[in-house]
Amino acid sequence: MSAQPFVPFWQNPCGLPSRPGLGQRACAFFGARYVLGPVKETVQLVHGPVGCGYYGRLVRMVPYPLYTTALTEKEVVFGGLDHLAQALREAFALNPEARGAFVYLSCVSGLIGEDVAGLARLFEEKGLPVKTVACPGFSSFSQAGGHALAYEVLLGLVKPGPLAEEPTVNLLGEYNVAGEARVIKSLLEGLGVKVHTVLTGETSWSEIKTLTRAHLNLLLCGSTAEALAKDLKSRFGMPFERVSFYGPTAIARSLKKIASFFGFPGKKVLARTRKDEDKLQKTLSSYKDLLSGRRVLLLLGAGKLGPLARMLRELGLEVVAVGSIFGREEDHQKLRAYTELVSDNPTEDELEYLLKFLKPDVVLTNARDQWRPIKLGFPTLSFPQTVDRGPYTGYEGFLNLARDLVKVLSAPVWRFLGP
Ligand code: SF4
Repeated sequence: MSAQPFVPFWQNPCGLPSRPGLGQRACAFFGARYVLGPVKETVQLVHGPVGCGYYGRLVRMVPYPLYTTALTEKEVVFGGLDHLAQALREAFALNPEARGAFVYLSCVSGLIGEDVAGLARLFEEKGLPVKTVACPGFSSFSQAGGHALAYEVLLGLVKPGPLAEEPTVNLLGEYNVAGEARVIKSLLEGLGVKVHTVLTGETSWSEIKTLTRAHLNLLLCGSTAEALAKDLKSRFGMPFERVSFYGPTAIARSLKKIASFFGFPGKKVLARTRKDEDKLQKTLSSYKDLLSGRRVLLLLGAGKLGPLARMLRELGLEVVAVGSIFGREEDHQKLRAYTELVSDNPTEDELEYLLKFLKPDVVLTNARDQWRPIKLGFPTLSFPQTVDRGPYTGYEGFLNLARDLVKVLSAPVWRFLGP
């Protein structure tokens, strides 16, 4: 038997389960909530112990309502379907605007094998659609499995229908953090393109059903929504384009792609992006002077890593290491254009080792992983960004990121905590 090649943790390959120990990943149920949480006109309920309800309530720091059947040992032994039926009836009564419900299966309901699909059919017969999201925490080794399951459920809602009269798109894999969808919509409106719906940051049960009104799907996060874009193409013939609105280069490239799809004159787009870029560069130059040459370590889910690395390079920073929490090989390949140190699922201790070894000037990471770098005295910008320091899409977003980096780097507190 040939020996496995040694791979240092700072180059961990992606797609592998976590080793037992200090894991940083969330469960499949959380991944499903991450995608479905913001969908309006729905009742959302987790069939599981009360802790799953607590864990799944905050999605990207926003408290979207989530009911729970609060299963106990008694229901584990005798079954909890009565609890679920009662909870669903109450939830529908409390939310008369709901067009349907998502019922998440957690580890407990998944293990005891509850016939939730059978119960869902009974509700459906009464005109109350209930979709089961079979996402027990153990069904995937990271939240990425939950993203895929959630988008499969949403695909099941889509119906064929007539196309809109005016040029119309859907945004797929856009989660509207700190109002980013608003910025993208205004860029597209400037081009004469209407956004039908934003999956899933700004959408509803009814809008998902009529997704096929759009002429084109714009895929913003391949890590979470690529399978949906491909399924919509094969099932409904909806074309899709990969786009990004993070940073001026990506914005110009994406607007050109969209204009060319709709047959708009390229000159008009060029004139507009030039004007916006000129305006941006004038304000940006003082920030760039402060940021140029600064070394940054990135540790985030997966989808934002590539766009952030590109924006940071455009601002003059050097990316010295990248860690994903649930990366795909495709994401890692793209990131190797910025640094050789691309790792998946580093533990907190491994992160500490990297911090002490590389001594980056600034760390960009998520709310969960921010504490170790902060305690070690590294200037840290955490994600999702809050409303007071976002959005990061569009020209104004690029400026916001530069401003926030300067703010965090120049905060006096680091002088007292420095590594
Ligand atoms: S791992 Fe299982 S029990 Fe824990 S929050 Fe996720 S679904 Fe619930």
